Amino acid sequence: SFLYKLVLNSKNGVPVAENFRLEQSTIPDTVQEGQVRVRTLYLSVDPYMRCRMNEDTGSDYLLPWQLSEVADGGGIGVVEESKNNNFAKGDYVTSFNWPWQTVAILDGSLLQKLVPQLVNGCLSYFLGAAGITGLTALLGIREKGHVTVGANQTMVVSGAAGACGSLAGQIGRLEGCSRVVGIAGTDEKCSILVSEMGFDAAINYKKENVAEQLRKLCPGGVDVYFDNVGGDISDTVISQMNQNSHIILCGQISQYNKDVPYPPPLPPDTEKIQKERNITRERFLVLNYMDKQEASVLQLCQWIQEGKLKVRETVIKGLANIGAAFQSMMSGGNIGKQIVSVSK
Ligand code: NAP
Repeated sequence: SFLYKLVLNSKNGVPVAENFRLEQSTIPDTVQEGQVRVRTLYLSVDPYMRCRMNEDTGSDYLLPWQLSEVADGGGIGVVEESKNNNFAKGDYVTSFNWPWQTVAILDGSLLQKLVPQLVNGCLSYFLGAAGITGLTALLGIREKGHVTVGANQTMVVSGAAGACGSLAGQIGRLEGCSRVVGIAGTDEKCSILVSEMGFDAAINYKKENVAEQLRKLCPGGVDVYFDNVGGDISDTVISQMNQNSHIILCGQISQYNKDVPYPPPLPPDTEKIQKERNITRERFLVLNYMDKQEASVLQLCQWIQEGKLKVRETVIKGLANIGAAFQSMMSGGNIGKQIVSVSK
C-alpha cells in the first residue's frame, strides 16, 4: 500500500522545519504472522528528540535518527489488519517507537493496547498526561520530590507551561504541597497556570526579575524544585532553596543544543549552595521506573476523569507539519503537550 513518511533531511544546529522532509513510499500488501497493519492517528513531539538529531545522542538508550531514514517516537494508531492474537481490527494501540508515517506494519510485540474510556475518549492523552509525560511528572515527584502531606511544602516548577511542567505543578499539589509556583516564558502561559491549572502564582522569566519574584512568592523558601530547564533559571531557584530540600532533575532543556554532559554540572557558586544546604539533585529517568507504569497510568487517568488534572494540548495537523512543530517546541511556542494529528 501507498503511504507518506517523514524522513530526517538534515541535522545541524538549532532545529528548524527543514530538518525533515515528506516522502511517498509503499509497504507490502501482506501482513506476516505476529504483525499488525496500523493507521497512524497521533504522534508525539518531544524535547528529547533533539538529542536524536545529534551524531551521538549522549545516552545508550537513545539511537540517533539517520539521514534520509524515517524518524520515530511515541505514537498512537488504529489496527486495520492483524495477524497477532493480541490485537484485533479496530483496536487502538501505542508504541514508543512509532514510525513517522501514515500507515505501517509493526510487530505486535512493540505495541500496547489502549482503552479510550480511561481518558474520556481523548486518545492523544495517552501520549501526554496519561502517557510518558504524566508518568514523568508523577514518578519524578514520588521518587525524588519527598513531598509529604501536611508538611507545608512550597514547590517551584520551571518550564511550567510545558507538557511535564503543567502536570507537575498540579500533581505536586495533589500529592500534598501547600504552595505551587510556576516559571514560564509568556504572560499567557502564566495566566493559564494560575487560572486553569491551580498554580498559586507564576513568574514570566522573560519579563520579570525571577529572584525578586521568588522571594516575594515563596516567603518560606523553596522545598521542592521540579526542574525542566536548567541554566540561569535553575541557579536562581536553587539560591532560594531551603536546607534539606529536593530538586527533581526532570530535564535541562536550555542546555540541549550545547555540548555538555548530562546532567550538566552546576556553576561553582550554585554547587556550593547545593552542598551546604544538603539539597538533593539526583538523576531521574522515567524509563527506570516502568515497573510502576500500569498503576501510575491508572492514577493519572483517575485524576483526569475526576477533573483534578487539567490537560492542555497544542495539536498540529498533518505529518508534513512535524518539522514546524519541532521548531516551535524548541522555541517555547507550545502550551502543554505538543501532538501531531495524522490522517490518511
Ligand atoms: P515542552 O512541553 O516542550 O516544555 C518545555 C518548556 O520549557 C517549554 O514550554 C518552554 O516554554 C520551556 N523552555 C524551552 N527552552 C527554554 C529555555 N532555553 N529556557 C527556559 N525555558 C525553556 O517539553 P516537555 O515534554 O514538558 O519536557 C520538559 C522537560 O522534561 C525536558 O527537559 C525533557 O527533556 C524532560 N523529560 C524528562 C524525562 C525524564 O525521564 N527525566 C521524560 C520526559 C521529558 P517557555 O520558555 O515559553 O516557558
